Amino acid sequence: MTTALEAVDDLEWAVRLLAGTPTHEGRDPELLRRWAHAADAFGSRLAPVPCTARIVERDDGLARGLLARYTSRPPTVELYTDTLALAERLVDDRGWRAWYPPGSVRAAALAHETVHVHLHHGPARAALKRALGHTALRLGRLRVPGHVVGAEEIAAHAHARTVCGLGRSPLLLTAALAEAAAAPDRPRPAGKEN
Ligand SMILES: [Zn+2]
Repeated sequence: MTTALEAVDDLEWAVRLLAGTPTHEGRDPELLRRWAHAADAFGSRLAPVPCTARIVERDDGLARGLLARYTSRPPTVELYTDTLALAERLVDDRGWRAWYPPGSVRAAALAHETVHVHLHHGPARAALKRALGHTALRLGRLRVPGHVVGAEEIAAHAHARTVCGLGRSPLLLTAALAEAAAAPDRPRPAGKEN
C-alpha cells in the first residue's frame, strides 16, 4: 500500500508534530526544526525517572483513540491494552521488530507518560523551556522563556526511545497507528494524546 513511513526520519516526525499544531502555523520551518531537535535532545538526556503516578490498565483505548495518557488529578498513568496490542501487531506487520522488541511498546508508553508526570511535578519543565530557548517576553534585560506547544511530547518520545533502547522513535509507531486507523476496516484512531 504505501509510502514507507520508516523513510521519514525521527527528527522529521518531530518537526511534523510541531507543524501540525495550530499555534505553530506560519512559523519558520527552520525554527520548528531547531525546537524539535532541542526537545529531542532534552528528552534523550533526561535521566530515567521512576513513575510516581498510579498506573491503571484499561481496554477501551481503540474506542477512545488512546494508547496511553497521564491525568494529573489524581496523578495517574492510563495504559490502554487493546491499543498496545494493536501497536505490537503493527510492529510485526511492518517488519519493525528489530526496532521495537517484544513488549517494548508498553515499556515505551510507560516511559513516555513518566516524563509527563516528571515535567508536571518537578523543576524539569523550566529546564525544558531553557533548552528550547524560546523567548515569550522581554522585560528590559530579562527574558521570560516561553512555552513551546508540542515540545514536551517530543521530549517524552525521545526519552522513551532512549531508555527503552528502541531503534526508532515511538513517533514512527504513532504514525503507523494513525495510518491503520485511517484505513478502511481498521480500528479507530489511536491518538497521540499525551
Ligand atoms: Zn505524551
